[in-house]
Amino acid sequence: MKTCDLHTHTTASDGSDSPGQLVAKAQAAGLSAIAVTDHDTVSGLEEAGRAAKDRGIELVPGVELSVNFHKGNMHMLGYYMDVANRRFLEVLERVQGARARRNPKILALLDDLGLPISMKEVEALSKGGQIGRPHIARAMVEKGYVKSVSEAFDKYLKRGARAYAPKSILSPGEAIEVLRGAKGVPVLAHPFSLMTSSQEELDAIVFELKEAGLMGIECYYSEHDSAFTSMCLGLARRYNLVVTGGSDYHGKAKPHIMLGKGRGNLVIPYECVEALKAARAHV
Ligand code: AMP
Ligand code: ZN
Ligand code: FE
Ligand code: FE
Repeated sequence: MKTCDLHTHTTASDGSDSPGQLVAKAQAAGLSAIAVTDHDTVSGLEEAGRAAKDRGIELVPGVELSVNFHKGNMHMLGYYMDVANRRFLEVLERVQGARARRNPKILALLDDLGLPISMKEVEALSKGGQIGRPHIARAMVEKGYVKSVSEAFDKYLKRGARAYAPKSILSPGEAIEVLRGAKGVPVLAHPFSLMTSSQEELDAIVFELKEAGLMGIECYYSEHDSAFTSMCLGLARRYNLVVTGGSDYHGKAKPHIMLGKGRGNLVIPYECVEALKAARAHV
């Protein structure tokens, strides 16, 4: 059976593998296709594309946009968008600007808590990619302020914690619109992270997103148990959405997540790629 992984991160954002290394690992893992979906940037796609060509594996160009949502986290994946589309690039720049303004705010809050970290120390970990909270968390581990990245998030960096600063400036509707405007397929990422408390609540959100132009939903995901996956598959049927899946591999930044395998038992059929390609014709 042909398999794929449609949600991965590289050093272009907060993953630890370069795009070339990621593609090599995808080939070694026996995947037929892989999507690179860095946070708010497409700067890893060129290198990934070259590596994929060399290794005879299929690269699905992607992106993961952070969007506003009243609770939990909402991320919008985009696939096959035209990365030269002007409006899409403008939106990426705007979101990247918001990220850049937020990082010093987090560092200032940490400084107030007696946990100083310099921007230089964080930049050394991000290696030129888009900086995110995982980089700050890793700097905190290196400084001995916390024992692990997850402790850094729980105590300081997660929403509502003492050194949290918000970032998202894009509404879900805008993200969907700009992706479709660039001939991309918008897909709701990891629905579990919306922290909905009932099937009805999730259904209502997906209904609204579908009205706004959503085309797919990430059903197979490292943190989805079988009941949650089934619920997502049900929503995909109900709202005629493409079913996708991904591990959200970050390399060392999320050491418990394996490429193409998630926590060990994730299997993403290649049909997800075919469905995305078919959807692309209707953007
Ligand atoms: P940011 O892009 O700065 O908002 O950071 C988001 C990233 O932080 C996501 O890609 C997650 O992988 C990571 N993240 C969020 N919550 C946690 C957590 N509790 N522990 C470890 N990583 C996390
Ligand atoms: Zn990430
Ligand atoms: Fe995400
Ligand atoms: Fe992700």
